[in-house]
Amino acid sequence: MADYSAALEKIVLDRFLELSHDERCQATYIWIDGTGENMRCKTKTLDCPPKSVKELPEWNYDGSSTGQATGENSDMFLTPVAMYRDPFLRGDNKLVLCEVNDHKRTPADTNYRNSCNKVMERAREHVPWFGIEQEYTLLSQDGHPFGWPKMGYPGPQGPYYCGVGANKVYGRDVVEAHYRACLYAGVKIAGSNAEVMPAQWEFQVGPCEGIQMGDDLWMARYILHRVSEDFGIQVTFDPKPMPGDWNGAGAHCNYSTKSMREDGGIKVIEAGIEALSKRHWEHLRMYGEGNERRLTGEHETAAMGVFSGGVANRGCSIRIPRQVAEDGYGYMEDRRPSASCDPYRVTEAMVRTTVLDDWDI
Ligand code: ADP
Ligand code: MN
Ligand code: MN
Ligand code: MN
Repeated sequence: MADYSAALEKIVLDRFLELSHDERCQATYIWIDGTGENMRCKTKTLDCPPKSVKELPEWNYDGSSTGQATGENSDMFLTPVAMYRDPFLRGDNKLVLCEVNDHKRTPADTNYRNSCNKVMERAREHVPWFGIEQEYTLLSQDGHPFGWPKMGYPGPQGPYYCGVGANKVYGRDVVEAHYRACLYAGVKIAGSNAEVMPAQWEFQVGPCEGIQMGDDLWMARYILHRVSEDFGIQVTFDPKPMPGDWNGAGAHCNYSTKSMREDGGIKVIEAGIEALSKRHWEHLRMYGEGNERRLTGEHETAAMGVFSGGVANRGCSIRIPRQVAEDGYGYMEDRRPSASCDPYRVTEAMVRTTVLDDWDI
């Protein structure tokens, strides 16, 4: 039992975390590895607590161990870009999100933040807002959906979405711990709910302006993995973790610009959807690996082959929420991105298509 981290006694750990020390603190540097989906971290001591991300030093790591460099030329640079309070070590300690650059200081292949940030700068006057609904599935250490019978399946979908009760939802402790940890860290978490498939959950981050969407969502994912580690549970963002009559996992991207949020903005939203309809396949390429297993036209998705938009329709590529249609302004929801998408790629694509009309990716 005690051969994995969740089985180690956390009260014993607390005795050491409570030890006093001088003004030094720990900064955990966090980055996206060569898979473009998994995250890595390592920790360094700072002489005193940093006031802003600008005070944080650049650092490096062995890219040959993360699928990002060869052994002969392995150093990759970590450039701090966003700083959060550390909900695990607490006190003055920090979580630091980093961009990865190679030895020539060019962005690593999976560093999509770099170009996203440039696009957000160009679109600044349009004040783009995003809210992403991150769905995910909890798995036991052995990779089996958490709480599912080891032989056979739970009952069919229906009672689980927003469910309550020991036979309806599995793993709520992880969800609550993650929510509080995000609030503490300063991640703009907006809500959470149990999903349609048992052991599947969702949290929302937003509304965030520009580059903050990708930053806060990646940090929220890190915190989820890290919280789950303490519980001895795995998280997967696989877009279709269980084949068959089980819902997949997406990352709906809610999106608006300044003019969409003003009176009569529905016209701008409709024009945006028209522009999106012409770039359906370009967008799908930015929306995550394995998404074709999820976008089947069933389980509240639109089939991959056709683009569609509609009011209150959860079988569409893009949904205009009912309230937005009634108000005549607001936002749209792109339901296509997979749970495993890179939010920097998704938000960059949205802005390029709807406001910059520039598709040079
Ligand atoms: P759903 O009904 O699709 O499940 P949720 O309530 O889960 O929707 O998520 C809605 C998301 O939309 C939230 O993350 C919220 O921050 C975001 N949102 C709300 N208003 C706007 C807006 N004007 N622009 C962009 N995102 C928005
Ligand atoms: Mn939702
Ligand atoms: Mn959902
Ligand atoms: Mn949604």
